[in-house]
Amino acid sequence: QKNIGILTSGGDAQGMNPCVRAVVRMAIARNCRPFFIYEGYQGLVDGGAKIKEAGWTDVSGFLALGGTMIGTARCKAFRELEGRRTGVLNLIKNGIDALVVIGGDGSLTGADRLRAEWPEHVRALEKAGLITKENAEKYRTLMIVGMVGSIDNDLASTDMTIGACSSLERICESVDAILSTALSHQRAFVVEVMGRHCGWLALNAAISTGADYLFIPEAPPSKDDWEASMCKTLKASRDAGKRTSLVIVAEGAIDRHLNPIKAEYIKDILSTRLGYDTRVTILGHVQRGGAPAHFDRFLGTMQGAEAIEAILRAKPDTPSLVIGMLENKITTQPLKEAIELTGQVAQAIESKDFARAISLRSAAFSK
Ligand code: ATP
Repeated sequence: QKNIGILTSGGDAQGMNPCVRAVVRMAIARNCRPFFIYEGYQGLVDGGAKIKEAGWTDVSGFLALGGTMIGTARCKAFRELEGRRTGVLNLIKNGIDALVVIGGDGSLTGADRLRAEWPEHVRALEKAGLITKENAEKYRTLMIVGMVGSIDNDLASTDMTIGACSSLERICESVDAILSTALSHQRAFVVEVMGRHCGWLALNAAISTGADYLFIPEAPPSKDDWEASMCKTLKASRDAGKRTSLVIVAEGAIDRHLNPIKAEYIKDILSTRLGYDTRVTILGHVQRGGAPAHFDRFLGTMQGAEAIEAILRAKPDTPSLVIGMLENKITTQPLKEAIELTGQVAQAIESKDFARAISLRSAAFSK
């Protein structure tokens, strides 16, 4: 029997609640004791009432709820060794010997660090007289399983992150609404969508809403005078009878010199060069909100159940794992590899090696 802590960390994402529900219920079904850790790593550092055993009915209704009912936070203290050591003490005090973390790449990097440092923390806590020798022996290792809860779909270990599909739904609904007013007034709209350094949301939103032009970080315009080619494309469709123009720009979009491409700048180009009545809509946090789409309920549930199985299968030397989904199958991979690969993609983009960034992402997808 294991005592399993569960926390959600970083930016909230639809589908986190279904995932928490699955972890809690699968843990109970497999004769383990699940513990909520409220407010992400902040709850781990604070301890006390922020760590509480979870019962079957505590997660009733979670499938249909957006955000995360157990709270999330960005925790500065957990970035420091001392903060992580306090977290270790709180886990041991509560008898927790496995941890499930649902969050983005930052949260999973923090989880990986915690696992790597764990023996050192235990030794230091024993030396300081904060835990007994028996506990130091009993809690020699902590199994950690991560799941990627992020609307950005930016982790290399999975085809889809929990929340990305719901966020895309929200974007499509919003753009559809914008298009009906654009159509009436023959307006152009520049819509900025989230995704940080990943263009997945923007690309899929552009395909799904029939955008005329798209900017994503992975494929910066190949020429310096991209403004002219954008205007030419938009004008051609207006000349062919289209009443609206829609440009989607990812928040991390860049030109080939790595300068950001901003929605306001695109608007100025369309207004001045083409004379279009152009508006900017930055969708913002609405993209994180609302009920999870079917797919995120499914993904969170399947991955949450697998997280418990992975914990029960683990041997003391099993590395921390990340649960993902590749080619429609739920997968389990070493957490470290997933984080390293994601870091390599980010580095490739930073050094303008876009071909490498794309090939690293597709290599991860085809694994
Ligand atoms: P999102 O993709 O939505 O931003 P994220 O998990 O990447 O989610 P972050 O703010 O990067 O969000 O990380 C969440 C928390 O994880 C941080 O506030 C911090 O407590 C912890 N964390 C992040 N990076 C590290 C790190 N390198 N070492 C230790 N802890 C970290």
